[in-house]
Amino acid sequence: MIVCRSKTRLTEATNAFKDNSVPQNRDTGKMDSKAAGMNPYVGLVSSLRDAWLAGKMRTVEQRVSQLEALGRFLDDKKQPILDAVASDMRKPPFEAELSEIILVRNEVNHVLNNLSSWMKDEFVDKNLVTQLDTAFIRKEPYGVVLIIGPWNYPLHLILIPLVGAIAAGNCVLIKPSEISSSTETLVAEVLPTYLDRDCFAVVTGGPEETSQLLENKFDYIFFTGSPRVGKIVMAAAAKHLTPLTLELGGKNPCYVADECDLQNVANRLVWGRCFNAGQTCLAPDYVLCSMEMQEKLLPALRRAITDFFGPNPQESPDFARIISDREFQRIRALLGSGRVAIGGQTDERERYVAPTVLVDVQPSEPAMQEEIFGPILPIVTVGNVDEAIAFINSRERPLAVYVFTSNNKLVHRVLERTSSGGFGGNDAMMQMMLVSLPFGGIGNSGLGLYHGKFSFDTFSHHRACLLRNMGLEAMNALRYPPYTERKMGLVLSTSRIKRSGSCTLL
Ligand code: NAD
Repeated sequence: MIVCRSKTRLTEATNAFKDNSVPQNRDTGKMDSKAAGMNPYVGLVSSLRDAWLAGKMRTVEQRVSQLEALGRFLDDKKQPILDAVASDMRKPPFEAELSEIILVRNEVNHVLNNLSSWMKDEFVDKNLVTQLDTAFIRKEPYGVVLIIGPWNYPLHLILIPLVGAIAAGNCVLIKPSEISSSTETLVAEVLPTYLDRDCFAVVTGGPEETSQLLENKFDYIFFTGSPRVGKIVMAAAAKHLTPLTLELGGKNPCYVADECDLQNVANRLVWGRCFNAGQTCLAPDYVLCSMEMQEKLLPALRRAITDFFGPNPQESPDFARIISDREFQRIRALLGSGRVAIGGQTDERERYVAPTVLVDVQPSEPAMQEEIFGPILPIVTVGNVDEAIAFINSRERPLAVYVFTSNNKLVHRVLERTSSGGFGGNDAMMQMMLVSLPFGGIGNSGLGLYHGKFSFDTFSHHRACLLRNMGLEAMNALRYPPYTERKMGLVLSTSRIKRSGSCTLL
């Protein structure tokens, strides 16, 4: 595995190529392109393509060995991982272990348990003309995949796609977020020592480097980040007709009905909103409820916050910090929307924003116009569930819609009449814990699916294969010119798919 450092560290990276006896064409490609003022990543991408074309990732043994190596990285480097995410955003060890290590380990183990059966050709139904033939779907790797990650779950959101890309047999170039710089360093310096350097590489850097990377032709791009950058990535992919997955963000609404288990609802909302200090794409972004429910919910939310984080959440070891000064300023400005009912304290030095609930928020105010991505929960009052559904449907389609109610019919009503990437009845975020459920957005919240088998399918081209028998030429001749009415009748009778259940009266 190769680590390609951006800009100032380019020479160092070039030396790393040499030190590791990387095949000459890699080095030459990179050096030549740099000298000629060309794209600096040309050589790296082409060396990964060489490895893929040489079939290095084709065998199940190679895929398993790389997945096991990834598992070892997670096991061996648990403490450095916890330290890196603590340094980036003071992510509490419990949250870090769960989100950055355990969930990735589960994904690795799930894939290892199922990979050989997923890789098998899938034989399909045939018609009369193809009875003697073999028809199947082969799951083939795309080739060279680019994975671009965000900073909020900086390891999880590059490693879970990586598991799927390896399972499907691709070579991969990973671009972690430059904002979570401690994790970026760990990924660049330690992960490469575990994986096959011919097939995997890490490139570090920000928008400029990512833009240069995207000028290259990849066979698949997997991007997680904001809708704004998602559009840039999609435009770059379009230039090469490269297929892609976009895992984006948005505002996830939570409708809380008048009949619900109040304290449990408050606990689950506060947990979802405050996990990683609210810097979670699936977090409940705002609450829709009646005025009466708002009055009941506020003391329950206050109690949940105190139970979880004590009287002063700033002193709690279980509450993270905001990733950067820029994000801190953006989130702090949102406190001006509506009225602060709970929390509202900030500490710029620590990039601390207290768990906060806003009330009397207008839909036109900033807190309701942008993804909050911090520990602030606005409440917007609505008259009833129909108004809540209309409110949700008047906005961009979110990554998740949540509904909290003890009325099961109401859960299904909201489910049927709204659209979102995922859906949660009586909880938030927990749908992503199951490897059996797909994870992904729709519309403004993204494009495509992953996790478990869905990742394997995402990173595999489904190649339609028909291996024909040379016999039965008389039947085949029906499709050859000269065309006649009689031939058409026979073609229809051998290949037509009839509507099941339909009955023809003679
Ligand atoms: P971002 O879009 O700013 O950055 C994501 C990646 O794109 C980074 O690696 C960054 O270096 C790169 N990048 C930034 N600007 C670029 C540009 N102009 N050209 C090319 N590349 C560029 O996102 P972020 O701030 O790191 O993450 C927060 C966003 O990600 C939120 O919107 C959140 O909802 C979303 N997100 C979505 C999911 C999901 O699974 N759907 C998960 C986590 C985060």
